[in-house]
Amino acid sequence: MEQLMRNFFLFLSKNKFLTKLAKRYGLRFGAARFVAGEAIKQAVDVIKDLNNKGLVVTIDYLGEFVDNEREANEMADNCIVAINAIGKEHLNSQLSLKMTSMGMDISDEIVLNNMRRILEAATQNNVFVTIDMEDYSRCQKTLEIFKQLKSEFDNIGTVIQAYLYRTVKDMEELNAYSPNLRLVKGAYKESPEVAFPEKKDVDENYKKIIKMHLLNGNYTAVATHDDSMIEYTKQLVEEHNIPKDQFEFQMLYGIRPERQLELVNEGYKMRVYVPYGTDWYGYFMRRLAERPANVAFVLKGVIAK
Ligand code: FAD
Repeated sequence: MEQLMRNFFLFLSKNKFLTKLAKRYGLRFGAARFVAGEAIKQAVDVIKDLNNKGLVVTIDYLGEFVDNEREANEMADNCIVAINAIGKEHLNSQLSLKMTSMGMDISDEIVLNNMRRILEAATQNNVFVTIDMEDYSRCQKTLEIFKQLKSEFDNIGTVIQAYLYRTVKDMEELNAYSPNLRLVKGAYKESPEVAFPEKKDVDENYKKIIKMHLLNGNYTAVATHDDSMIEYTKQLVEEHNIPKDQFEFQMLYGIRPERQLELVNEGYKMRVYVPYGTDWYGYFMRRLAERPANVAFVLKGVIAK
Protein backbone atom coordinates (compact mmCIF):
# COMPACT_ATOMS: atom_id res chain seq x y z
CA MET A 1 0.00 0.00 0.00
CA GLU A 2 2.79 2.39 1.01
CA GLN A 3 4.65 1.64 -2.23
CA LEU A 4 1.46 2.19 -4.23
CA MET A 5 0.92 5.59 -2.64
CA ARG A 6 4.54 6.51 -3.21
CA ASN A 7 4.29 5.63 -6.91
CA PHE A 8 1.01 7.53 -7.19
CA PHE A 9 2.44 10.79 -5.79
CA LEU A 10 5.66 10.45 -7.80
CA PHE A 11 3.53 10.01 -10.92
CA LEU A 12 1.54 13.14 -10.00
CA SER A 13 4.77 15.08 -9.38
CA LYS A 14 5.54 14.96 -13.12
CA ASN A 15 2.06 15.89 -14.37
CA LYS A 16 2.33 19.13 -16.40
CA PHE A 17 -1.40 19.92 -16.36
CA LEU A 18 -1.61 19.66 -12.56
CA THR A 19 1.57 21.73 -12.24
CA LYS A 20 -0.10 24.54 -14.22
CA LEU A 21 -3.27 24.24 -12.19
CA ALA A 22 -1.32 24.40 -8.92
CA LYS A 23 0.60 27.51 -10.05
CA ARG A 24 -2.71 29.20 -10.80
CA TYR A 25 -4.43 28.40 -7.53
CA GLY A 26 -1.54 29.10 -5.19
CA LEU A 27 -0.32 27.47 -2.02
CA ARG A 28 -3.43 25.53 -1.09
CA PHE A 29 -4.00 22.06 0.31
CA GLY A 30 -1.27 22.05 2.91
CA ALA A 31 1.70 22.83 0.65
CA ALA A 32 2.43 25.83 2.90
CA ARG A 33 3.78 23.46 5.51
CA PHE A 34 6.69 22.57 3.21
CA VAL A 35 7.06 25.78 1.18
CA ALA A 36 8.04 29.14 2.70
CA GLY A 37 5.81 31.18 0.39
CA GLU A 38 5.52 32.28 -3.21
CA ALA A 39 7.53 35.54 -2.93
CA ILE A 40 11.13 36.24 -1.88
CA LYS A 41 9.89 38.54 0.92
CA GLN A 42 8.14 35.59 2.63
CA ALA A 43 11.21 33.41 2.22
CA VAL A 44 13.43 36.12 3.74
CA ASP A 45 11.14 36.31 6.80
CA VAL A 46 11.28 32.54 7.23
CA ILE A 47 15.08 32.51 6.91
CA LYS A 48 15.47 35.30 9.47
CA ASP A 49 13.35 33.34 11.89
CA LEU A 50 15.36 30.13 11.34
CA ASN A 51 18.69 31.98 11.63
CA ASN A 52 17.53 33.51 14.92
CA LYS A 53 16.99 29.97 16.22
CA GLY A 54 20.55 28.96 15.31
CA LEU A 55 19.66 27.13 12.10
CA VAL A 56 21.44 27.86 8.84
CA VAL A 57 19.61 27.65 5.53
CA THR A 58 19.80 26.80 1.86
CA ILE A 59 17.14 28.64 -0.11
CA ASP A 60 15.60 27.12 -3.24
CA TYR A 61 13.65 29.12 -5.81
CA LEU A 62 11.36 26.32 -6.91
CA GLY A 63 11.33 25.24 -10.53
CA GLU A 64 12.12 22.21 -12.66
CA PHE A 65 11.74 20.68 -16.13
CA VAL A 66 11.81 24.09 -17.87
CA ASP A 67 11.58 23.67 -21.64
CA ASN A 68 12.06 27.17 -23.08
CA GLU A 69 14.95 29.60 -22.93
CA ARG A 70 12.97 32.61 -21.71
CA GLU A 71 11.70 30.71 -18.69
CA ALA A 72 15.17 29.32 -17.91
CA ASN A 73 16.65 32.83 -18.01
CA GLU A 74 13.87 34.09 -15.74
CA MET A 75 14.57 31.27 -13.30
CA ALA A 76 18.22 32.32 -13.21
CA ASP A 77 17.20 35.98 -12.70
CA ASN A 78 15.09 34.92 -9.72
CA CYS A 79 18.00 32.97 -8.23
CA ILE A 80 20.11 36.13 -8.51
CA VAL A 81 17.33 38.07 -6.74
CA ALA A 82 17.51 35.49 -3.93
CA ILE A 83 21.33 35.75 -3.75
CA ASN A 84 21.17 39.54 -3.58
CA ALA A 85 18.54 39.31 -0.82
CA ILE A 86 20.82 36.98 1.17
CA GLY A 87 23.66 39.52 0.82
CA LYS A 88 21.55 42.59 1.53
CA GLU A 89 19.77 41.12 4.57
CA HIS A 90 22.94 39.41 5.89
CA LEU A 91 21.19 36.06 5.98
CA ASN A 92 23.04 32.86 6.85
CA SER A 93 21.91 31.04 3.73
CA GLN A 94 23.20 29.18 0.73
CA LEU A 95 21.31 28.62 -2.54
CA SER A 96 20.12 25.32 -4.05
CA LEU A 97 18.84 24.91 -7.58
CA LYS A 98 17.97 22.37 -10.25
CA MET A 99 19.71 22.15 -13.61
CA THR A 100 16.45 21.50 -15.48
CA SER A 101 15.23 24.88 -14.22
CA MET A 102 18.33 26.54 -15.71
CA GLY A 103 17.70 25.06 -19.17
CA MET A 104 19.64 21.77 -19.03
CA ASP A 105 17.02 20.03 -21.17
CA ILE A 106 17.33 22.77 -23.84
CA SER A 107 21.08 23.25 -24.38
CA ASP A 108 24.47 23.17 -22.64
CA GLU A 109 25.06 26.77 -23.61
CA ILE A 110 21.89 28.02 -21.88
CA VAL A 111 22.43 26.11 -18.66
CA LEU A 112 26.12 27.07 -18.42
CA ASN A 113 25.45 30.76 -19.17
CA ASN A 114 22.75 30.88 -16.52
CA MET A 115 24.92 29.08 -13.98
CA ARG A 116 27.88 31.40 -14.62
CA ARG A 117 25.67 34.45 -14.06
CA ILE A 118 24.41 32.94 -10.81
CA LEU A 119 27.85 31.89 -9.58
CA GLU A 120 29.28 35.35 -10.25
CA ALA A 121 26.51 36.97 -8.19
CA ALA A 122 27.01 34.28 -5.53
CA THR A 123 30.77 34.92 -5.40
CA GLN A 124 30.15 38.65 -4.90
CA ASN A 125 27.72 37.94 -2.05
CA ASN A 126 29.76 35.09 -0.54
CA VAL A 127 26.98 32.57 -1.13
CA PHE A 128 27.58 28.85 -1.67
CA VAL A 129 25.51 27.18 -4.42
CA THR A 130 24.41 23.52 -4.47
CA ILE A 131 23.19 21.79 -7.61
CA ASP A 132 20.31 19.50 -6.57
CA MET A 133 20.25 16.05 -8.15
CA GLU A 134 17.17 15.19 -10.22
CA ASP A 135 16.03 11.93 -11.81
CA TYR A 136 18.43 9.30 -13.15
CA SER A 137 18.15 10.40 -16.78
CA ARG A 138 19.73 13.74 -15.78
CA CYS A 139 22.39 12.43 -13.40
CA GLN A 140 25.31 12.10 -15.84
CA LYS A 141 24.70 15.51 -17.39
CA THR A 142 24.32 17.17 -13.99
CA LEU A 143 27.66 15.74 -12.84
CA GLU A 144 29.35 16.93 -16.04
CA ILE A 145 27.97 20.45 -15.49
CA PHE A 146 29.12 20.33 -11.88
CA LYS A 147 32.68 19.30 -12.87
CA GLN A 148 32.87 22.03 -15.50
CA LEU A 149 31.67 24.75 -13.11
CA LYS A 150 33.78 23.47 -10.22
CA SER A 151 36.88 24.06 -12.37
CA GLU A 152 35.79 27.71 -12.71
CA PHE A 153 34.26 28.48 -9.29
CA ASP A 154 35.00 27.44 -5.69
CA ASN A 155 31.57 28.10 -4.22
CA ILE A 156 29.73 25.17 -5.78
CA GLY A 157 28.68 21.70 -4.63
CA THR A 158 26.23 19.05 -5.71
CA VAL A 159 24.15 16.12 -4.48
CA ILE A 160 24.70 12.38 -4.57
CA GLN A 161 21.84 9.88 -4.18
CA ALA A 162 22.42 6.65 -2.24
CA TYR A 163 19.72 4.72 -4.12
CA LEU A 164 21.65 4.67 -7.43
CA TYR A 165 23.95 1.74 -8.23
CA ARG A 166 26.38 4.13 -9.94
CA THR A 167 26.87 6.30 -6.86
CA VAL A 168 30.01 4.78 -5.32
CA LYS A 169 31.80 4.99 -8.67
CA ASP A 170 30.65 8.61 -9.11
CA MET A 171 32.01 9.47 -5.68
CA GLU A 172 35.35 7.87 -6.47
CA GLU A 173 35.60 10.01 -9.60
CA LEU A 174 34.39 13.17 -7.88
CA ASN A 175 36.98 12.80 -5.12
CA ALA A 176 39.59 14.42 -7.41
CA TYR A 177 37.58 17.66 -7.03
CA SER A 178 37.48 17.53 -3.17
CA PRO A 179 33.82 18.37 -3.51
CA ASN A 180 31.41 19.65 -0.92
CA LEU A 181 28.58 17.12 -1.36
CA ARG A 182 25.09 16.81 0.02
CA LEU A 183 24.37 13.10 0.50
CA VAL A 184 20.73 11.99 0.25
CA LYS A 185 18.86 8.72 -0.15
CA GLY A 186 17.10 9.88 -3.36
CA ALA A 187 13.59 11.19 -4.02
CA TYR A 188 12.60 10.12 -7.55
CA LYS A 189 10.86 7.03 -8.91
CA GLU A 190 13.63 4.98 -10.50
CA SER A 191 13.70 1.58 -12.16
CA PRO A 192 15.34 -1.38 -10.39
CA GLU A 193 17.75 -1.42 -13.33
CA VAL A 194 19.42 1.74 -12.02
CA ALA A 195 18.47 2.02 -8.33
CA PHE A 196 18.17 -0.25 -5.29
CA PRO A 197 14.47 -1.13 -4.94
CA GLU A 198 14.81 -2.18 -1.27
CA LYS A 199 15.02 0.45 1.48
CA LYS A 200 17.53 -1.62 3.47
CA ASP A 201 19.98 -1.58 0.54
CA VAL A 202 19.54 2.17 0.10
CA ASP A 203 20.23 2.67 3.83
CA GLU A 204 23.32 0.49 3.67
CA ASN A 205 24.66 2.36 0.65
CA TYR A 206 23.85 5.67 2.36
CA LYS A 207 26.02 4.73 5.34
CA LYS A 208 28.75 3.60 2.98
CA ILE A 209 28.91 6.92 1.11
CA ILE A 210 28.74 9.00 4.30
CA LYS A 211 31.78 7.10 5.59
CA MET A 212 33.59 7.28 2.27
CA HIS A 213 33.17 11.02 1.85
CA LEU A 214 34.03 11.93 5.43
CA LEU A 215 37.09 9.68 5.58
CA ASN A 216 38.29 11.14 2.28
CA GLY A 217 38.46 14.43 4.18
CA ASN A 218 35.68 16.14 2.22
CA TYR A 219 32.97 18.44 3.52
CA THR A 220 29.83 16.36 3.93
CA ALA A 221 26.20 17.39 4.28
CA VAL A 222 24.17 14.49 5.65
CA ALA A 223 20.67 15.37 4.42
CA THR A 224 18.17 13.05 6.06
CA HIS A 225 15.32 12.95 8.59
CA ASP A 226 16.30 9.43 9.57
CA ASP A 227 17.54 9.19 13.17
CA SER A 228 19.45 5.99 12.53
CA MET A 229 21.53 7.74 9.82
CA ILE A 230 22.08 10.75 12.08
CA GLU A 231 23.25 8.47 14.93
CA TYR A 232 25.51 6.59 12.52
CA THR A 233 27.14 9.88 11.46
CA LYS A 234 27.57 11.06 15.05
CA GLN A 235 29.34 7.83 16.01
CA LEU A 236 31.49 7.82 12.90
CA VAL A 237 32.78 11.38 13.42
CA GLU A 238 33.47 10.64 17.07
CA GLU A 239 35.37 7.44 16.25
CA HIS A 240 37.52 9.11 13.60
CA ASN A 241 37.94 12.49 15.31
CA ILE A 242 36.35 14.29 12.41
CA PRO A 243 35.98 17.96 13.30
CA LYS A 244 32.53 19.55 13.50
CA ASP A 245 33.42 22.00 10.75
CA GLN A 246 33.81 19.15 8.22
CA PHE A 247 30.16 18.14 8.17
CA GLU A 248 26.61 19.28 8.77
CA PHE A 249 23.13 17.85 8.94
CA GLN A 250 20.39 19.03 6.62
CA MET A 251 16.61 18.66 6.72
CA LEU A 252 13.72 20.04 4.73
CA TYR A 253 11.66 23.01 5.89
CA GLY A 254 8.58 21.84 7.78
CA ILE A 255 9.88 18.32 8.46
CA ARG A 256 10.92 17.43 12.02
CA PRO A 257 11.48 21.07 13.12
CA GLU A 258 11.89 20.02 16.77
CA ARG A 259 14.60 17.52 15.83
CA GLN A 260 16.37 20.24 13.87
CA LEU A 261 16.56 22.40 17.00
CA GLU A 262 17.71 19.48 19.15
CA LEU A 263 20.68 18.97 16.83
CA VAL A 264 21.55 22.68 17.06
CA ASN A 265 21.39 22.44 20.85
CA GLU A 266 23.71 19.44 20.73
CA GLY A 267 26.22 21.69 18.95
CA TYR A 268 25.84 20.41 15.38
CA LYS A 269 25.50 22.56 12.29
CA MET A 270 21.95 22.10 11.00
CA ARG A 271 20.90 23.47 7.62
CA VAL A 272 17.26 23.78 6.61
CA TYR A 273 16.31 23.57 2.93
CA VAL A 274 13.79 26.38 2.40
CA PRO A 275 11.90 26.26 -0.91
CA TYR A 276 9.78 29.15 -2.16
CA GLY A 277 8.15 30.27 -5.40
CA THR A 278 5.09 29.49 -7.46
CA ASP A 279 6.36 26.22 -8.98
CA TRP A 280 5.86 24.23 -5.75
CA TYR A 281 3.74 21.37 -7.06
CA GLY A 282 6.38 18.74 -8.00
CA TYR A 283 8.32 19.40 -4.79
CA PHE A 284 5.16 19.05 -2.72
CA MET A 285 4.17 15.76 -4.40
CA ARG A 286 7.62 14.27 -3.68
CA ARG A 287 7.20 15.15 0.01
CA LEU A 288 3.83 13.38 0.05
CA ALA A 289 5.37 10.36 -1.68
CA GLU A 290 8.03 10.08 1.02
CA ARG A 291 5.74 9.61 3.93
CA PRO A 292 2.09 8.60 4.36
CA ALA A 293 1.98 10.68 7.57
CA ASN A 294 2.55 13.79 5.43
CA VAL A 295 -0.57 12.91 3.41
CA ALA A 296 -2.61 12.48 6.60
CA PHE A 297 -1.37 15.86 7.83
CA VAL A 298 -2.40 17.57 4.59
CA LEU A 299 -5.81 15.88 4.52
CA LYS A 300 -6.48 17.01 8.09
CA GLY A 301 -5.66 20.58 6.99
CA VAL A 302 -8.05 20.36 4.03
CA ILE A 303 -10.88 18.93 6.12
CA ALA A 304 -10.36 21.61 8.76
CA LYS A 305 -10.68 24.38 6.11
P1 FAD B 1 13.39 8.09 4.91
O1 FAD B 1 14.07 6.84 4.51
O2 FAD B 1 12.32 8.67 4.02
O3 FAD B 1 12.76 7.91 6.34
C1 FAD B 1 13.49 7.23 7.34
C2 FAD B 1 12.98 7.61 8.70
O4 FAD B 1 13.17 9.01 8.94
C3 FAD B 1 11.49 7.40 8.90
O5 FAD B 1 11.20 6.06 9.15
C4 FAD B 1 11.24 8.32 10.08
O6 FAD B 1 11.71 7.75 11.25
C5 FAD B 1 12.11 9.50 9.75
N1 FAD B 1 11.32 10.49 8.99
C6 FAD B 1 11.36 10.70 7.67
N2 FAD B 1 10.50 11.68 7.33
C7 FAD B 1 9.90 12.08 8.46
C8 FAD B 1 8.90 13.04 8.78
N3 FAD B 1 8.31 13.77 7.83
N4 FAD B 1 8.53 13.17 10.06
C9 FAD B 1 9.09 12.41 11.02
N5 FAD B 1 10.02 11.48 10.79
C10 FAD B 1 10.43 11.31 9.53
N6 FAD B 1 16.57 14.09 -3.07
C11 FAD B 1 17.02 14.07 -4.33
O7 FAD B 1 16.78 13.13 -5.07
N7 FAD B 1 17.77 15.13 -4.80
C12 FAD B 1 18.11 16.20 -4.02
O8 FAD B 1 18.81 17.10 -4.50
C13 FAD B 1 17.65 16.21 -2.68
N8 FAD B 1 17.94 17.24 -1.84
C14 FAD B 1 17.56 17.15 -0.52
C15 FAD B 1 17.94 18.15 0.38
C16 FAD B 1 17.68 18.02 1.73
C17 FAD B 1 18.13 19.08 2.68
C18 FAD B 1 16.97 16.86 2.20
C19 FAD B 1 16.71 16.67 3.66
C20 FAD B 1 16.55 15.91 1.32
C21 FAD B 1 16.81 16.04 -0.04
N9 FAD B 1 16.38 15.08 -0.95
C22 FAD B 1 16.85 15.12 -2.23
C23 FAD B 1 15.36 14.08 -0.56
C24 FAD B 1 15.96 12.77 -0.13
O9 FAD B 1 16.52 12.10 -1.23
C25 FAD B 1 14.89 11.85 0.50
O10 FAD B 1 13.89 11.60 -0.45
C26 FAD B 1 14.23 12.44 1.72
O11 FAD B 1 15.13 13.12 2.53
C27 FAD B 1 13.58 11.29 2.55
O12 FAD B 1 14.55 10.39 2.99
P2 FAD B 1 15.13 10.39 4.49
O13 FAD B 1 16.60 10.16 4.39
O14 FAD B 1 14.77 11.66 5.14
O15 FAD B 1 14.50 9.20 5.25
